[in-house]
Amino acid sequence: MKRVGLVTGSSSGIGAAIATRMHADGWSVVLNGHQTADAGRRLSEALDGSIYVEADVSSLIDARMLVSEAIGQFGRLDAVINNAGIARQIPHSDMDAVDDEFWDSVMAVNLKGPWNVSRAARPYLATTGGQIINTASLAGITAAGSSIPYAVSKAGVVHLTRLLAKALGPAIRVNAVAPGYIDTPLTQDWLELREFIAENAPARRLGTPEDVSEVVSGLLSMDYVTGTVIPVAGGLQLI
Ligand code: NAD
Repeated sequence: MKRVGLVTGSSSGIGAAIATRMHADGWSVVLNGHQTADAGRRLSEALDGSIYVEADVSSLIDARMLVSEAIGQFGRLDAVINNAGIARQIPHSDMDAVDDEFWDSVMAVNLKGPWNVSRAARPYLATTGGQIINTASLAGITAAGSSIPYAVSKAGVVHLTRLLAKALGPAIRVNAVAPGYIDTPLTQDWLELREFIAENAPARRLGTPEDVSEVVSGLLSMDYVTGTVIPVAGGLQLI
């Protein structure tokens, strides 16, 4: 029987690359996004046998619906990739530019989202020897990132990864990837940063969504690895 993977935030960017790679690796894939139904459905047509489910991961009701759609369609769940996330560039020194609405939404989507979906998926993952992989960020391990609320939300994801790995083992493995700067729709307009990375990161280039999906694909097959956070950043964590 084919393994089934749910990838949140997979109508675009890194999530789309992860879903595409899992499909190529032989998984049945459940795609998800929020307010991106057209792009999500287009990708699900391209990935034979996959389905797209529109759901807001910041809502526990939506997260439960997303997981039950996956179970309803495929009857099992082997992996959840908590990848949905939002960001905005705000200089760290400009505290007044962070309004409440941004603080709350970035925490709700980036941090509570993985919690909601993991909570909803846990009973099913436990029966398949399943796993959870969170998309954290280098911003969650270094004192940098597109904004302070974003970096704090991703630091939360890093800790959530470790805590869930302890709490859910041995039935469920939990790991995270921590991308540096990846060329996606999210980061398209961050021009100065693009230049800086291309000139200064040890890899001397921006990351691609496929750089991240390669690591996720590896983690999915590493049975003795849990509670780890792997930077996928071309060495950016060193500068
Ligand atoms: P993107 O904007 O291309 O894609 C974001 C995806 O998340 C979309 O599919 C969107 O529909 C979905 N999404 C947004 N809000 C959602 C919600 N409430 N519920 C469900 N889905 C929702 O972004 P990306 O660059 O591919 O980023 C993907 C993940 O990688 C995010 O968690 C982001 O923080 C993280 N990340 C990105 C970079 C980078 O440089 N691009 C670096 C580090 C971490």
